[in-house]
Amino acid sequence: MKKVSIIGGGIIGLCSAYYLAKEGYEVIIFDQSAMNDGCSYGNAGMIVPSHIIPLAQPGMIAQGIKWMFDSQSPFYVKPRLNSDLIKWGLQFYKHANAKHVEKAIPALRDLSLLSKELYQDFALTNDSFFYEEKGLLMLYKTEKTAAEMFHEAKEAEKAGLKVNYLSAAEVAKVEKGTVTNVLGGIHYKSDAHLYPQKFLQFIKEELTKLKVEIHPLTTVQDFLFDHHKITKIVTDKGTFATDEVVLAAGSWSPSLAKKLGISVSILPGKGYSFTLKDKKHKPSIPSILCEGKVAVTPMNTDIRFGGTMEITHTADTKINKNRLQGIVNSINDFYPEMEIAMPEEKDTWFGFRPCTPSGMPIIMRSQKVVNLTFATGHAMMGLSLAPATGKLITEIVSGKTTSVDTKMFQL
Ligand SMILES: Cc1cc2nc3c(=O)[nH]c(=O)nc-3n(C[C@H](O)[C@H](O)[C@H](O)COP(=O)(O)OP(=O)(O)OC[C@H]3O[C@@H](n4cnc5c(N)ncnc54)[C@H](O)[C@@H]3O)c2cc1C
Repeated sequence: MKKVSIIGGGIIGLCSAYYLAKEGYEVIIFDQSAMNDGCSYGNAGMIVPSHIIPLAQPGMIAQGIKWMFDSQSPFYVKPRLNSDLIKWGLQFYKHANAKHVEKAIPALRDLSLLSKELYQDFALTNDSFFYEEKGLLMLYKTEKTAAEMFHEAKEAEKAGLKVNYLSAAEVAKVEKGTVTNVLGGIHYKSDAHLYPQKFLQFIKEELTKLKVEIHPLTTVQDFLFDHHKITKIVTDKGTFATDEVVLAAGSWSPSLAKKLGISVSILPGKGYSFTLKDKKHKPSIPSILCEGKVAVTPMNTDIRFGGTMEITHTADTKINKNRLQGIVNSINDFYPEMEIAMPEEKDTWFGFRPCTPSGMPIIMRSQKVVNLTFATGHAMMGLSLAPATGKLITEIVSGKTTSVDTKMFQL
C-alpha cells in the first residue's frame, strides 16, 4: 500500500491520518512541536453546524475597521506593511459579499453535518472526550446584535437547521448553571461540544493501534521532486521517502507551500483561552457572548472561555492583556454571578487559527504537484470540521468521489 506523509499533527492532520490508515495506507506524521499545546488543544471545543456564514461576509469590513480602534475589541488586524497581509486583505474584501455567503452556506453546512456524524461514531466507541449534544446558545445584550443574530438564524433555518428564539426569561430556563444578564438568545439545537485535549489524546491512541508512525519535534524543511511529484520529505531529523503528501500545517502552510512553488494565502488569527476548575456557578450550555465574541464551553467539570481574533504572524507570541481583559469583562457582564478575575499569563493559552481570506477551508488535490493534497485553512472551525476533512482527504487520495462537494474548498 502507498505511503502517505502528513505534515502537521494538529487535529486536521490527525483526523486525516485516522481515515487514511483505516483505508489501509501506511501513514507517517511529522510535527515540529511536541504535539501537546497547539491551536487544536486549547480551543473552545465547539462542533458548530450553526456556523454556516463565513467570516468574509457583508458588513465585516466596516465592523473590522471600527474594532481596530478599540484595544479590547474581539477582532483586530495588526497593521503591517507586508505583502502577505495586503494580498490577504484584498482577497478578504473580494469575498465579503452576499454572493459568496450564499455559495458558502450549503458547502459549510454539509461539511459540518458530516463531521458531526463522524464525531457521533467516535463517541459511540469511547466517551473519554466528553462529547455532548446540548446545542449552542448565542446570547446577546443589545437590539442591534439581536437583529444581526435573527438574520443569521433565519439563514440557518432556511438551510434546514433547528433554531429556538429565546427571551431573557426563556434563556434562564435553558441555562440553569448560572444567572445570565442578557436581552435574549438563540439556541441552535444542531451543535455539540467536546474536550479538545481529551479528543486529541483519544485519536492519538487510535493512530497507535492503527500503526501510524508519529514524529513529534520534527520540522519539515524541504522537498525533493521528480517530474512534479514529491519523492522525499526533508526534515531536521532526516529524509523520508513518500508516495503521497498531505499538507496540514495550519498557519504555517503558506511557507511550506511556497517551497513547492504554490501560493497559499493563510494568516494566523491569534486567539486566547483559559480554563477554570471547580467553579460553583458556571454555564451548563455552550454559549457565545455575541457582543464580545467570547466562546464559553463546559468541558466535563471544567469551564473554558475563549476569544479574540488578531490577524497577525506566527512569530507574534505575546499575550495582549487588553484583549484578554476584554474577554474577562464580557464574561462578568453576561454572567454576573461568576466574578471572574483576570487570568495569570501562565494560565492563558493562545493558538493561531489558520485563516483564509475567503473564510473557507482548503481541501483539494494540488494541480501543480501531482501527489500533494491540501488540508488546511479551517480558521475558527478546525475542530468542528476535522473528521469530515479527514474523510474527504482519504477519498481524494484514493481517487474516489467525495462524500460532499469540495468545489468551495479550493485555493
Ligand atoms: C481561542 C480559539 C478558540 C477556538 N474554538 C474553536 C471551536 O470551538 N471549534 C472549532 O471548530 N474550532 C475552534 N478553533 C479553531 C481550531 O482550533 C483550529 O481551526 C484548528 O485547531 C486548526 O487545526 P490544524 O490542524 O489545521 O492546525 P494546528 O493545530 O495549528 O496544526 C498544525 C500543525 O502543523 C505543525 N507544523 C507547522 N509547520 C510545520 C513544519 N514545517 N514541519 C512539521 N510540522 C509543522 C504545527 O506544529 C502544528 O502542530 C479555535 C481557535 C482558537 C484560537
